[in-house]
Amino acid sequence: MNTQKEIYLCSISNIESGTCAEDCKFCTQSTKNDIDIYRYKRKYISDIVKEAQIARKYKAQGFCLVTAGKEMTDSKLKYILEATHAIKKENLGLKINACNGLATLEQLKELKKAGIEVYNHNLEASKEFYPKLCTTHSWEERYQTCLNVKEAGLNLACGGIFGVGESFEDRISLFNSIKSLNPMIVPLNFYHYTQDLPIEKNTLSKDEAFNIIKLAKQTVDSAKVIMVGGGRESMFGQNQYEVFEHGANSFIIGNYLTTQGESARQDLVNIEKLNYKIAVL
Ligand code: SF4
Repeated sequence: MNTQKEIYLCSISNIESGTCAEDCKFCTQSTKNDIDIYRYKRKYISDIVKEAQIARKYKAQGFCLVTAGKEMTDSKLKYILEATHAIKKENLGLKINACNGLATLEQLKELKKAGIEVYNHNLEASKEFYPKLCTTHSWEERYQTCLNVKEAGLNLACGGIFGVGESFEDRISLFNSIKSLNPMIVPLNFYHYTQDLPIEKNTLSKDEAFNIIKLAKQTVDSAKVIMVGGGRESMFGQNQYEVFEHGANSFIIGNYLTTQGESARQDLVNIEKLNYKIAVL
């Protein structure tokens, strides 16, 4: 019997953009990186709900509320809870996820109570390499937030960024650390150079990038979802749907945080042409 591979689709809403004071060298959202992007504080709740409706129309299962910034604050938490309640009222059948930086156990418990199902917090890089990417907060703080996510009873999405100068050993170390957290989802982002970012280019070949997906799948073998996130189009170009042959079973549809993605409609057409089935988690 020919069983169709299932693909989990997720959509992200950048509900606060480009306002982060941290110095992550790969990130367009950092105010330390003088990049020409649209920066704003807090989208209207009604606009977030519209985006959630569109995401569902294009068969997304997950809808992630993303904010720029090092950490969750009281006012941010209030805003995310408000957005969550407004989306839930629509009964769209979406799993609502959140990605709001470092967070305490108490804050995460509030998100869980409101109906958030997954919290995304990436370790980004190996413990050894991380200080080369960011000096304003530590890898250990990130790891602790991931532990808090688990303790709060939320599902964890935890991954990293690749093509930023890390070595093969760094990738192994990162995936072993991620495995120790037993995440549900492992997002893999591929560096997309934007003019004026301090890291001048992504040096990965397509084959290396496919091997990173394979390595993630093999190492974090308990994860249900290996997701290709940002950089899909620039990293893989015409071969982007081959990520599913190398161990991925998910990607983001629609736009990313500060860059445009493949159109969601086109993605659906292509996925169906390739005889994959849209998954329900
Ligand atoms: S903390 Fe997050 S939003 Fe801020 S610069 Fe680093 S990666 Fe970007």
